Amino acid sequence: MIAKTATECLITLKDVSKAYQQPNGQKISILEPINLELRSGEIVALLGPSGSGKSTLMRIIAGLIPPSEGQILYHNRPLVGLNPGVAIVFQNFALYPWLTVLENVELGLKAKGEMPEPRLQKALKMIDIIGLDGFENAYPKELSGGMRQRVGFARALAVEPELLCMDEPFSALDVLTAENLRFELLDLWLEKKIPTKAVLIVTHGIEEAVILADRIVVLGRNPGRIRAELTVTLPHYRDRKTPQFQALVDQVYKILTNPELSCETVVAPAASATTVSQPEPAPSAKYQSLPQVRTGAIAGLLELLEDRKEKDLYRLGQELMLEVDDILPIVEAAKLMDFLIIQEGDLLLTPVGIQFIAGGIDQRKQIVRTQILSNIRLVQQISRMLQAKRNHRISEELILDILEAHFSPKEAMRQLQTAIDWGRYAELYSYDEPGGEIFLESETKDE
Ligand code: ADP
Ligand code: MG
Repeated sequence: MIAKTATECLITLKDVSKAYQQPNGQKISILEPINLELRSGEIVALLGPSGSGKSTLMRIIAGLIPPSEGQILYHNRPLVGLNPGVAIVFQNFALYPWLTVLENVELGLKAKGEMPEPRLQKALKMIDIIGLDGFENAYPKELSGGMRQRVGFARALAVEPELLCMDEPFSALDVLTAENLRFELLDLWLEKKIPTKAVLIVTHGIEEAVILADRIVVLGRNPGRIRAELTVTLPHYRDRKTPQFQALVDQVYKILTNPELSCETVVAPAASATTVSQPEPAPSAKYQSLPQVRTGAIAGLLELLEDRKEKDLYRLGQELMLEVDDILPIVEAAKLMDFLIIQEGDLLLTPVGIQFIAGGIDQRKQIVRTQILSNIRLVQQISRMLQAKRNHRISEELILDILEAHFSPKEAMRQLQTAIDWGRYAELYSYDEPGGEIFLESETKDE
Protein backbone atom coordinates (compact mmCIF):
# COMPACT_ATOMS: atom_id res chain seq x y z
CA MET A 1 0.00 0.00 0.00
CA ILE A 2 1.06 3.55 -0.63
CA ALA A 3 2.70 5.25 2.31
CA LYS A 4 0.69 8.14 3.62
CA THR A 5 2.40 11.39 2.81
CA ALA A 6 1.67 14.94 3.83
CA THR A 7 -0.08 15.59 0.51
CA GLU A 8 -3.68 16.55 0.74
CA CYS A 9 -6.28 14.03 -0.26
CA LEU A 10 -8.71 15.68 -2.67
CA ILE A 11 -10.97 12.81 -3.56
CA THR A 12 -11.51 9.45 -1.96
CA LEU A 13 -13.56 6.68 -3.49
CA LYS A 14 -14.75 4.08 -1.03
CA ASP A 15 -16.12 0.90 -2.53
CA VAL A 16 -17.66 2.86 -5.37
CA SER A 17 -19.51 0.64 -7.80
CA LYS A 18 -21.86 1.23 -10.69
CA ALA A 19 -24.53 -0.98 -12.14
CA TYR A 20 -27.21 -0.19 -14.67
CA GLN A 21 -30.66 -1.61 -14.60
CA GLN A 22 -31.70 -3.03 -17.94
CA PRO A 23 -35.18 -2.51 -19.35
CA ASN A 24 -35.83 -6.17 -18.56
CA GLY A 25 -35.00 -5.57 -14.90
CA GLN A 26 -31.59 -7.23 -14.99
CA LYS A 27 -28.73 -5.39 -13.38
CA ILE A 28 -25.44 -5.06 -15.21
CA SER A 29 -22.31 -4.33 -13.28
CA ILE A 30 -20.20 -1.68 -15.00
CA LEU A 31 -17.77 -1.03 -12.18
CA GLU A 32 -16.91 -3.41 -9.36
CA PRO A 33 -16.19 -1.74 -6.02
CA ILE A 34 -13.39 0.77 -6.60
CA ASN A 35 -11.16 2.20 -3.91
CA LEU A 36 -9.05 5.10 -5.03
CA GLU A 37 -7.55 8.31 -3.71
CA LEU A 38 -6.62 11.37 -5.72
CA ARG A 39 -4.11 13.55 -3.96
CA SER A 40 -2.86 17.04 -4.60
CA GLY A 41 0.29 17.31 -6.65
CA GLU A 42 -0.23 14.30 -8.85
CA ILE A 43 -1.28 13.42 -12.35
CA VAL A 44 -3.19 10.16 -12.35
CA ALA A 45 -3.92 8.22 -15.51
CA LEU A 46 -6.90 5.89 -15.72
CA LEU A 47 -5.77 3.43 -18.34
CA GLY A 48 -7.78 0.58 -19.77
CA PRO A 49 -9.36 -0.93 -22.86
CA SER A 50 -12.55 0.59 -24.15
CA GLY A 51 -15.55 -0.47 -22.15
CA SER A 52 -13.62 -0.82 -18.90
CA GLY A 53 -15.59 1.99 -17.30
CA LYS A 54 -12.99 4.77 -17.43
CA SER A 55 -15.43 7.44 -18.52
CA THR A 56 -18.02 6.21 -16.06
CA LEU A 57 -15.53 6.40 -13.21
CA MET A 58 -14.46 9.89 -14.24
CA ARG A 59 -18.06 11.06 -14.40
CA ILE A 60 -18.72 9.64 -10.95
CA ILE A 61 -15.73 11.57 -9.60
CA ALA A 62 -17.04 14.73 -11.29
CA GLY A 63 -20.44 14.14 -9.72
CA LEU A 64 -22.14 13.94 -13.11
CA ILE A 65 -23.55 10.51 -12.31
CA PRO A 66 -24.11 8.96 -8.90
CA PRO A 67 -22.51 5.66 -7.94
CA SER A 68 -24.81 2.72 -7.27
CA GLU A 69 -22.99 1.90 -4.06
CA GLY A 70 -20.15 3.33 -2.08
CA GLN A 71 -19.08 6.81 -1.21
CA ILE A 72 -17.15 9.68 -2.75
CA LEU A 73 -15.42 12.03 -0.40
CA TYR A 74 -14.31 15.47 -1.51
CA HIS A 75 -11.94 16.98 1.02
CA ASN A 76 -13.03 14.20 3.35
CA ARG A 77 -16.71 15.19 3.12
CA PRO A 78 -19.34 13.17 1.28
CA LEU A 79 -19.90 14.56 -2.19
CA VAL A 80 -23.46 15.43 -3.10
CA GLY A 81 -24.28 16.38 -6.67
CA LEU A 82 -21.76 18.07 -8.93
CA ASN A 83 -18.21 18.19 -7.71
CA PRO A 84 -17.45 21.91 -7.34
CA GLY A 85 -13.71 21.33 -7.65
CA VAL A 86 -13.78 19.57 -11.01
CA ALA A 87 -13.67 20.78 -14.60
CA ILE A 88 -13.67 18.42 -17.57
CA VAL A 89 -12.00 18.36 -20.96
CA PHE A 90 -13.81 16.07 -23.38
CA GLN A 91 -12.50 14.03 -26.28
CA ASN A 92 -14.76 15.73 -28.77
CA PHE A 93 -14.19 19.21 -27.37
CA ALA A 94 -17.90 19.70 -26.59
CA LEU A 95 -17.94 23.32 -27.75
CA TYR A 96 -21.03 25.31 -28.62
CA PRO A 97 -20.77 26.01 -32.36
CA TRP A 98 -22.87 29.16 -32.13
CA LEU A 99 -20.63 30.75 -29.51
CA THR A 100 -17.25 32.37 -30.15
CA VAL A 101 -14.04 31.13 -28.55
CA LEU A 102 -14.34 33.78 -25.86
CA GLU A 103 -17.99 32.97 -25.17
CA ASN A 104 -17.22 29.28 -24.99
CA VAL A 105 -14.41 29.90 -22.51
CA GLU A 106 -16.64 32.17 -20.42
CA LEU A 107 -19.31 29.48 -20.10
CA GLY A 108 -17.86 27.64 -17.13
CA LEU A 109 -17.29 30.91 -15.29
CA LYS A 110 -20.83 31.98 -16.01
CA ALA A 111 -22.13 28.72 -14.60
CA LYS A 112 -20.12 29.45 -11.46
CA GLY A 113 -21.92 32.77 -11.11
CA GLU A 114 -18.98 35.04 -11.93
CA MET A 115 -19.95 38.64 -12.72
CA PRO A 116 -19.40 39.82 -16.32
CA GLU A 117 -16.27 41.88 -15.72
CA PRO A 118 -14.11 39.39 -13.75
CA ARG A 119 -15.49 36.68 -16.01
CA LEU A 120 -14.17 38.45 -19.08
CA GLN A 121 -10.78 39.09 -17.45
CA LYS A 122 -10.35 35.48 -16.36
CA ALA A 123 -11.42 34.14 -19.76
CA LEU A 124 -9.04 36.46 -21.61
CA LYS A 125 -6.18 35.51 -19.32
CA MET A 126 -6.72 31.81 -19.90
CA ILE A 127 -7.08 32.33 -23.65
CA ASP A 128 -3.69 33.98 -23.54
CA ILE A 129 -2.06 31.25 -21.42
CA ILE A 130 -3.41 28.48 -23.60
CA GLY A 131 -2.19 30.05 -26.85
CA LEU A 132 -5.51 31.21 -28.32
CA ASP A 133 -4.60 34.86 -28.43
CA GLY A 134 -6.16 36.51 -31.47
CA PHE A 135 -8.87 33.86 -31.84
CA GLU A 136 -11.24 35.32 -29.24
CA ASN A 137 -13.95 36.09 -31.78
CA ALA A 138 -13.54 33.04 -33.99
CA TYR A 139 -16.18 30.33 -34.09
CA PRO A 140 -15.25 26.69 -33.42
CA LYS A 141 -15.86 25.66 -37.03
CA GLU A 142 -13.17 28.11 -38.15
CA LEU A 143 -10.57 26.34 -36.00
CA SER A 144 -8.46 23.22 -36.48
CA GLY A 145 -8.99 20.26 -34.14
CA GLY A 146 -5.96 21.22 -32.11
CA MET A 147 -7.18 24.79 -31.65
CA ARG A 148 -10.64 23.57 -30.74
CA GLN A 149 -9.22 21.40 -28.02
CA ARG A 150 -7.26 24.40 -26.78
CA VAL A 151 -10.63 26.08 -26.31
CA GLY A 152 -11.73 22.99 -24.39
CA PHE A 153 -8.69 23.33 -22.14
CA ALA A 154 -9.13 27.07 -21.70
CA ARG A 155 -12.78 26.64 -20.74
CA ALA A 156 -11.94 23.98 -18.16
CA LEU A 157 -8.91 25.81 -16.74
CA ALA A 158 -10.58 29.24 -16.59
CA VAL A 159 -12.60 28.17 -13.56
CA GLU A 160 -9.35 27.23 -11.82
CA PRO A 161 -10.50 23.72 -10.92
CA GLU A 162 -8.75 21.86 -8.15
CA LEU A 163 -8.99 18.69 -10.17
CA LEU A 164 -8.73 18.83 -13.94
CA CYS A 165 -10.42 15.79 -15.48
CA MET A 166 -9.73 14.86 -19.07
CA ASP A 167 -11.44 12.09 -21.01
CA GLU A 168 -9.16 11.01 -23.84
CA PRO A 169 -8.47 14.66 -24.61
CA PHE A 170 -5.88 14.04 -27.30
CA SER A 171 -7.32 11.07 -29.13
CA ALA A 172 -9.33 13.05 -31.69
CA LEU A 173 -6.18 14.93 -32.76
CA ASP A 174 -3.44 13.98 -35.17
CA VAL A 175 -0.26 12.56 -33.65
CA LEU A 176 1.82 15.71 -33.84
CA THR A 177 -0.85 18.09 -32.57
CA ALA A 178 -1.58 15.68 -29.73
CA GLU A 179 2.06 15.50 -28.71
CA ASN A 180 2.41 19.29 -28.76
CA LEU A 181 -0.65 19.85 -26.65
CA ARG A 182 0.40 17.13 -24.22
CA PHE A 183 3.71 18.83 -23.57
CA GLU A 184 2.15 22.27 -23.37
CA LEU A 185 -0.21 21.01 -20.72
CA LEU A 186 2.71 19.44 -18.91
CA ASP A 187 4.52 22.79 -19.06
CA LEU A 188 1.59 24.60 -17.49
CA TRP A 189 1.43 21.99 -14.77
CA LEU A 190 5.11 21.64 -14.00
CA GLU A 191 5.74 25.37 -14.09
CA LYS A 192 2.68 25.96 -11.94
CA LYS A 193 1.12 28.39 -14.38
CA ILE A 194 -2.26 26.97 -13.43
CA PRO A 195 -3.48 26.59 -9.86
CA THR A 196 -4.83 23.10 -10.57
CA LYS A 197 -3.99 20.76 -7.70
CA ALA A 198 -4.36 17.43 -9.45
CA VAL A 199 -5.02 16.04 -12.90
CA LEU A 200 -6.96 12.92 -13.82
CA ILE A 201 -6.55 11.74 -17.39
CA VAL A 202 -8.56 8.93 -18.94
CA THR A 203 -6.70 7.21 -21.74
CA HIS A 204 -6.33 3.98 -23.66
CA GLY A 205 -2.80 4.89 -24.77
CA ILE A 206 -0.04 3.33 -22.70
CA GLU A 207 2.63 5.75 -23.84
CA GLU A 208 0.41 8.71 -23.12
CA ALA A 209 -0.05 7.43 -19.58
CA VAL A 210 3.65 6.84 -19.08
CA ILE A 211 4.56 10.26 -20.54
CA LEU A 212 2.20 12.18 -18.26
CA ALA A 213 1.30 10.31 -15.13
CA ASP A 214 2.77 10.05 -11.68
CA ARG A 215 0.46 7.14 -11.06
CA ILE A 216 -1.19 4.80 -13.52
CA VAL A 217 -4.36 3.02 -12.50
CA VAL A 218 -4.98 0.11 -14.85
CA LEU A 219 -8.61 -0.88 -15.31
CA GLY A 220 -9.85 -4.19 -16.64
CA ARG A 221 -13.20 -4.77 -18.26
CA ASN A 222 -16.31 -6.87 -17.93
CA PRO A 223 -16.86 -5.74 -15.30
CA GLY A 224 -14.66 -2.68 -14.87
CA ARG A 225 -12.27 -3.00 -11.95
CA ILE A 226 -8.82 -1.87 -10.87
CA ARG A 227 -6.23 -4.39 -11.94
CA ALA A 228 -3.04 -2.62 -10.98
CA GLU A 229 -1.61 0.66 -9.81
CA LEU A 230 1.84 1.76 -10.84
CA THR A 231 3.73 4.69 -9.44
CA VAL A 232 5.91 6.36 -12.04
CA THR A 233 8.94 8.09 -10.65
CA LEU A 234 10.75 8.86 -13.91
CA PRO A 235 11.58 12.56 -13.96
CA HIS A 236 9.86 14.86 -16.46
CA TYR A 237 10.23 15.43 -19.34
CA ARG A 238 10.31 11.76 -20.10
CA ASP A 239 12.17 10.39 -23.06
CA ARG A 240 10.35 7.62 -24.88
CA LYS A 241 13.61 6.09 -26.03
CA THR A 242 15.17 5.40 -22.64
CA PRO A 243 15.24 1.78 -21.44
CA GLN A 244 13.39 2.80 -18.26
CA PHE A 245 10.54 4.28 -20.26
CA GLN A 246 10.34 1.25 -22.54
CA ALA A 247 10.49 -1.14 -19.58
CA LEU A 248 7.56 0.58 -17.97
CA VAL A 249 5.58 0.58 -21.21
CA ASP A 250 6.32 -3.14 -21.58
CA GLN A 251 5.21 -3.80 -18.05
CA VAL A 252 1.88 -2.04 -18.53
CA TYR A 253 1.44 -3.74 -21.89
CA LYS A 254 1.83 -7.12 -20.22
CA ILE A 255 -0.84 -6.31 -17.67
CA LEU A 256 -3.24 -5.11 -20.35
CA THR A 257 -2.67 -8.02 -22.70
CA ASN A 258 -3.18 -10.61 -20.00
CA PRO A 259 -6.70 -10.02 -18.78
CA GLU A 260 -6.46 -13.22 -16.72
CA LEU A 261 -3.26 -12.17 -15.02
CA SER A 262 -3.89 -11.48 -11.38
CA CYS A 263 -2.13 -8.41 -10.10
CA GLU A 264 -0.31 -10.34 -7.45
CA THR A 265 1.67 -11.99 -10.19
CA VAL A 266 2.53 -8.77 -11.99
CA VAL A 267 6.19 -9.00 -12.95
CA ALA A 268 8.88 -7.29 -10.95
CA PRO A 269 8.78 -3.52 -11.18
CA ALA A 270 10.79 -1.89 -13.91
CA ALA A 271 13.77 0.23 -13.03
CA SER A 272 12.80 3.54 -11.43
CA ALA A 273 9.22 2.50 -11.11
CA THR A 274 7.55 0.82 -8.25
CA THR A 275 4.46 -1.25 -8.59
CA VAL A 276 1.80 -0.92 -6.03
CA SER A 277 -0.67 -3.54 -6.91
CA GLN A 278 -4.09 -3.62 -5.50
CA PRO A 279 -5.23 -7.11 -6.24
CA GLU A 280 -8.89 -7.49 -6.90
CA PRO A 281 -10.41 -10.93 -6.80
CA ALA A 282 -11.18 -12.30 -10.24
CA PRO A 283 -14.85 -11.67 -10.91
CA SER A 284 -16.96 -14.66 -10.14
CA ALA A 285 -18.25 -16.86 -12.94
CA LYS A 286 -19.22 -14.33 -15.55
CA TYR A 287 -20.41 -14.69 -19.05
CA GLN A 288 -17.62 -15.00 -21.58
CA SER A 289 -17.24 -11.75 -23.48
CA LEU A 290 -16.34 -11.89 -27.17
CA PRO A 291 -14.14 -9.20 -28.64
CA GLN A 292 -15.78 -7.65 -31.66
CA VAL A 293 -13.40 -8.91 -34.28
CA ARG A 294 -13.97 -10.37 -37.72
CA THR A 295 -12.44 -13.70 -38.61
CA GLY A 296 -10.53 -11.95 -41.38
CA ALA A 297 -8.67 -9.84 -38.83
CA ILE A 298 -7.70 -12.94 -36.86
CA ALA A 299 -6.39 -14.61 -40.00
CA GLY A 300 -4.49 -11.42 -40.82
CA LEU A 301 -2.77 -11.32 -37.45
CA LEU A 302 -1.79 -15.00 -37.60
CA GLU A 303 -0.37 -14.63 -41.09
CA LEU A 304 1.59 -11.62 -39.98
CA LEU A 305 3.07 -13.58 -37.10
CA GLU A 306 4.12 -16.38 -39.36
CA ASP A 307 6.04 -14.07 -41.63
CA ARG A 308 8.08 -12.12 -39.14
CA LYS A 309 10.61 -12.60 -36.41
CA GLU A 310 9.21 -9.80 -34.28
CA LYS A 311 6.89 -11.59 -31.88
CA ASP A 312 6.79 -8.95 -29.20
CA LEU A 313 3.23 -7.76 -28.98
CA TYR A 314 4.10 -4.23 -28.04
CA ARG A 315 6.68 -3.73 -30.78
CA LEU A 316 4.42 -5.43 -33.28
CA GLY A 317 1.73 -2.93 -32.38
CA GLN A 318 4.18 -0.08 -32.80
CA GLU A 319 5.37 -1.38 -36.15
CA LEU A 320 1.81 -1.60 -37.40
CA MET A 321 0.99 1.74 -35.80
CA LEU A 322 -1.83 0.09 -33.92
CA GLU A 323 -3.05 1.22 -30.52
CA VAL A 324 -3.69 -1.34 -27.80
CA ASP A 325 -7.35 -0.83 -28.41
CA ASP A 326 -6.99 -1.92 -32.01
CA ILE A 327 -4.72 -4.91 -31.56
CA LEU A 328 -5.87 -6.24 -28.22
CA PRO A 329 -9.30 -7.45 -29.33
CA ILE A 330 -7.74 -9.35 -32.24
CA VAL A 331 -5.23 -11.00 -29.93
CA GLU A 332 -8.02 -11.83 -27.49
CA ALA A 333 -10.09 -13.44 -30.24
CA ALA A 334 -7.12 -15.48 -31.48
CA LYS A 335 -6.51 -16.60 -27.90
CA LEU A 336 -10.13 -17.63 -27.47
CA MET A 337 -9.71 -19.86 -30.51
CA ASP A 338 -6.45 -21.29 -29.10
CA PHE A 339 -4.53 -19.98 -32.08
CA LEU A 340 -1.89 -18.30 -29.99
CA ILE A 341 -0.60 -17.81 -26.50
CA ILE A 342 1.13 -14.84 -24.94
CA GLN A 343 4.39 -15.59 -23.22
CA GLU A 344 6.36 -12.78 -21.66
CA GLY A 345 4.83 -10.30 -24.07
CA ASP A 346 5.54 -12.47 -27.10
CA LEU A 347 2.79 -13.83 -29.29
CA LEU A 348 3.41 -17.49 -29.99
CA LEU A 349 1.42 -19.53 -32.48
CA THR A 350 0.00 -22.80 -31.19
CA PRO A 351 -0.06 -25.98 -33.29
CA VAL A 352 -3.72 -25.24 -34.12
CA GLY A 353 -2.75 -21.72 -35.14
CA ILE A 354 -0.02 -23.06 -37.42
CA GLN A 355 -2.46 -25.58 -38.88
CA PHE A 356 -4.92 -22.77 -39.53
CA ILE A 357 -2.40 -20.68 -41.45
CA ALA A 358 -1.27 -23.67 -43.50
CA GLY A 359 -4.84 -24.60 -44.40
CA GLY A 360 -6.88 -23.66 -47.43
CA ILE A 361 -10.21 -21.96 -47.05
CA ASP A 362 -12.15 -25.17 -46.33
CA GLN A 363 -9.68 -26.40 -43.76
CA ARG A 364 -9.64 -23.00 -42.11
CA LYS A 365 -13.40 -23.00 -41.83
CA GLN A 366 -13.29 -26.52 -40.39
CA ILE A 367 -10.70 -25.51 -37.81
CA VAL A 368 -12.61 -22.40 -36.72
CA ARG A 369 -15.72 -24.54 -36.51
CA THR A 370 -14.07 -26.98 -34.13
CA GLN A 371 -12.48 -24.21 -32.07
CA ILE A 372 -15.55 -22.07 -31.58
CA LEU A 373 -17.76 -25.06 -30.86
CA SER A 374 -15.46 -26.16 -28.09
CA ASN A 375 -14.44 -22.75 -26.74
CA ILE A 376 -17.16 -20.19 -27.32
CA ARG A 377 -20.10 -20.45 -25.00
CA LEU A 378 -22.41 -18.26 -27.05
CA VAL A 379 -21.77 -20.26 -30.20
CA GLN A 380 -22.43 -23.47 -28.28
CA GLN A 381 -25.71 -22.08 -26.97
CA ILE A 382 -26.86 -20.96 -30.40
CA SER A 383 -25.95 -24.31 -31.94
CA ARG A 384 -27.74 -26.25 -29.24
CA MET A 385 -30.89 -24.18 -29.60
CA LEU A 386 -30.86 -24.57 -33.36
CA GLN A 387 -30.59 -28.34 -33.01
CA ALA A 388 -33.39 -28.39 -30.47
CA LYS A 389 -35.86 -26.38 -32.52
CA ARG A 390 -37.86 -28.43 -34.96
CA ASN A 391 -37.62 -25.85 -37.73
CA HIS A 392 -33.97 -25.17 -36.86
CA ARG A 393 -34.59 -21.44 -36.67
CA ILE A 394 -34.29 -19.09 -33.72
CA SER A 395 -34.95 -15.40 -33.52
CA GLU A 396 -32.12 -13.13 -32.54
CA GLU A 397 -34.38 -11.69 -29.83
CA LEU A 398 -34.07 -14.95 -27.97
CA ILE A 399 -30.29 -14.72 -27.93
CA LEU A 400 -30.39 -11.04 -27.05
CA ASP A 401 -32.60 -11.83 -24.07
CA ILE A 402 -29.97 -14.21 -22.77
CA LEU A 403 -27.17 -11.75 -23.43
CA GLU A 404 -28.94 -8.81 -21.88
CA ALA A 405 -28.80 -10.57 -18.55
CA HIS A 406 -25.06 -9.98 -18.71
CA PHE A 407 -24.45 -7.06 -21.04
CA SER A 408 -25.91 -3.67 -21.89
CA PRO A 409 -28.24 -3.75 -24.92
CA LYS A 410 -25.55 -2.22 -27.12
CA GLU A 411 -22.91 -4.68 -25.98
CA ALA A 412 -25.37 -7.57 -26.24
CA MET A 413 -25.92 -6.62 -29.88
CA ARG A 414 -22.16 -6.59 -30.48
CA GLN A 415 -21.77 -9.99 -28.85
CA LEU A 416 -24.51 -11.39 -31.04
CA GLN A 417 -23.00 -9.89 -34.19
CA THR A 418 -19.64 -11.43 -33.41
CA ALA A 419 -21.16 -14.85 -32.74
CA ILE A 420 -23.09 -14.63 -35.99
CA ASP A 421 -20.02 -13.54 -37.91
CA TRP A 422 -17.86 -16.35 -36.54
CA GLY A 423 -20.58 -18.97 -36.90
CA ARG A 424 -21.31 -17.98 -40.49
CA TYR A 425 -17.64 -18.11 -41.38
CA ALA A 426 -17.45 -21.60 -39.89
CA GLU A 427 -20.66 -22.51 -41.73
CA LEU A 428 -22.26 -23.58 -38.48
CA TYR A 429 -25.37 -21.55 -39.11
CA SER A 430 -26.74 -18.82 -41.34
CA TYR A 431 -28.40 -15.53 -40.64
CA ASP A 432 -31.50 -14.14 -42.21
CA GLU A 433 -30.91 -10.43 -41.90
CA PRO A 434 -34.36 -8.96 -42.59
CA GLY A 435 -36.09 -11.61 -40.51
CA GLY A 436 -33.59 -11.34 -37.67
CA GLU A 437 -33.32 -15.11 -37.50
CA ILE A 438 -30.45 -17.53 -37.16
CA PHE A 439 -31.03 -20.83 -38.91
CA LEU A 440 -29.45 -24.09 -39.97
CA GLU A 441 -29.25 -24.77 -43.70
CA SER A 442 -31.24 -27.95 -44.18
CA GLU A 443 -28.26 -29.92 -45.43
CA THR A 444 -25.92 -28.61 -42.72
CA LYS A 445 -23.79 -31.39 -41.38
CA ASP A 446 -24.27 -32.34 -37.79
CA GLU A 447 -21.43 -31.63 -35.42
P1 ADP B 1 -14.70 3.40 -21.28
O1 ADP B 1 -14.71 4.88 -21.08
O2 ADP B 1 -13.62 2.69 -20.51
O3 ADP B 1 -14.67 2.99 -22.72
P2 ADP B 1 -17.43 3.53 -20.32
O4 ADP B 1 -17.33 4.05 -18.94
O5 ADP B 1 -17.82 4.48 -21.39
O6 ADP B 1 -16.07 2.80 -20.68
O7 ADP B 1 -18.47 2.33 -20.37
C1 ADP B 1 -18.28 1.14 -19.62
C2 ADP B 1 -19.41 0.19 -19.90
O8 ADP B 1 -20.60 0.73 -19.38
C3 ADP B 1 -19.67 -0.04 -21.38
O9 ADP B 1 -19.89 -1.41 -21.57
C4 ADP B 1 -20.90 0.76 -21.66
O10 ADP B 1 -21.65 0.18 -22.69
C5 ADP B 1 -21.62 0.71 -20.34
N1 ADP B 1 -22.47 1.88 -20.10
C6 ADP B 1 -22.06 3.17 -20.03
N2 ADP B 1 -23.10 4.00 -19.78
C7 ADP B 1 -24.19 3.21 -19.70
C8 ADP B 1 -25.60 3.46 -19.47
N3 ADP B 1 -26.07 4.70 -19.27
N4 ADP B 1 -26.44 2.40 -19.47
C9 ADP B 1 -25.97 1.14 -19.66
N5 ADP B 1 -24.69 0.84 -19.87
C10 ADP B 1 -23.79 1.85 -19.90
MG1 MG C 1 -14.60 6.42 -22.47
